[in-house]
Amino acid sequence: MRNVVIIGSGCAGLTAAIYAARANLQPLVIRGVEAGGQLTLTTLVENYPGFPKGVQGPELIEMMQKQATEFGAEFLEGNVTRVDLSRRPFVLEVGETRVETRTLIVASGASARLLGLESERKLLGHGVSTCATCDGYFFRGKEVAVVGGGDTAAEEALFLTRYATQVNLIHRRDQLRASKIMQDRIFRSEKIKPIWNSVVADVLDPAKGEVTGVKLRDTKTGEETLKTCDGVFIGIGHTPNTSLFRGQLEMDDVGYLKTHDGAKTNVPGVFAAGDVQDHVYRQAVTAAGTGCMAAMDAERFLEAEH
Ligand code: NAP
Repeated sequence: MRNVVIIGSGCAGLTAAIYAARANLQPLVIRGVEAGGQLTLTTLVENYPGFPKGVQGPELIEMMQKQATEFGAEFLEGNVTRVDLSRRPFVLEVGETRVETRTLIVASGASARLLGLESERKLLGHGVSTCATCDGYFFRGKEVAVVGGGDTAAEEALFLTRYATQVNLIHRRDQLRASKIMQDRIFRSEKIKPIWNSVVADVLDPAKGEVTGVKLRDTKTGEETLKTCDGVFIGIGHTPNTSLFRGQLEMDDVGYLKTHDGAKTNVPGVFAAGDVQDHVYRQAVTAAGTGCMAAMDAERFLEAEH
C-alpha cells in the first residue's frame, strides 16, 4: 500500500515527487508513455527562474528526477491502464502491475493535438511531426509547413528556420494568437512565410510514404491550392490526458480536470497538477507550482486521517 502515487513524470509530477518524498511519504511515480513530459521535447528554456542563461528542457527534467530520487521517490516505467477511484484505497493497474494507494496525484499532462486527417495519421513520423525540436534536424535544406497560430506554432516555426530553407506558417485566420514577442520574431524572420486564412485539407502523399506537399483550403473562398513541402509540423494545441478518469473525476468540456481549494479534485484524496488541469498558463514554472501544491495537499490529507 502506497501513501502517494503520482501519475506522470513531467515538471508537475516530479515537483510533487520532490515534495512528497521530502515529507517522507515515499511516493511512487508512474512515468507514463511520454515520460518527462513536454520539457523533454523542447530545447532551451529561458524563463524558468534560477537559470539566467537558460537551461535545456531535458536537462531540467533529469535534474528534477535526480532530486526526487535523492529524497526517496521511486519510479515505475509504464502507463496506467485502469484506475478505480470509487473506493479507498484507490486501485491502479499499470499493465500487469496492480498498485494500491491512499492518495493519488494526477499529473498526466496534455498531448499535442492533430488535425484528424487520415493522411496526417498515415504520415506521422514520415514527414508529419508534432515536435520541431525532435524532428527539425531531418529537414535541413528543405521546405516545411507549420500549422497553427499560437505560441506553439510560432515556436516550432522559429526553431525550424535553423534548418529549413522556407517555413510556411499556415493559419486559419489572418491574425496570430501567439504572444507579441513571438509574433515580432515571426514577422522579422526572412524564412517564415505566413499563409493566412488557410486550413490543411489533406497531406500528400500517403501512397509514397512521404510528405510531398499539402492541399490548402482558403477559409474565405473555399478555393483549394497545392503547396509543395517536405514536412508538416502540427502546432495547434494540446489535449489533456484524462480519458482514464472519465466518469470518475470532474472535468471541463475539453477534458481538463477541475480543481478547487488548491489541487483538490472532486474525489477526496485525489489531487491534480500541471497541464492536465491548466489550459491557461501551461508553463514549466506553473506546473512545478501546482505539483508542489498537490503534494502538500496530499500530505495534509494523510495527516488529517491519522
Ligand atoms: P493555442 O494558443 O490554443 O493555439 C492553437 C492554435 O492552433 C490557434 O492559433 C488555433 O487557431 C489553431 N488551431 C486549433 N485547432 C486547429 C485546427 N483544427 N486547424 C487549424 N488550426 C487550429 O495553443 P498553443 O499554441 O499550444 O499554446 C497554448 C498555451 O501555451 C498558450 O497559453 C501559450 O502562450 C502557451 N505556450 C507558451 C510558449 C512560450 O511561452 N514560449 C510556448 C508554447 C505554448 P485560432 O487562433 O483560430 O483559434
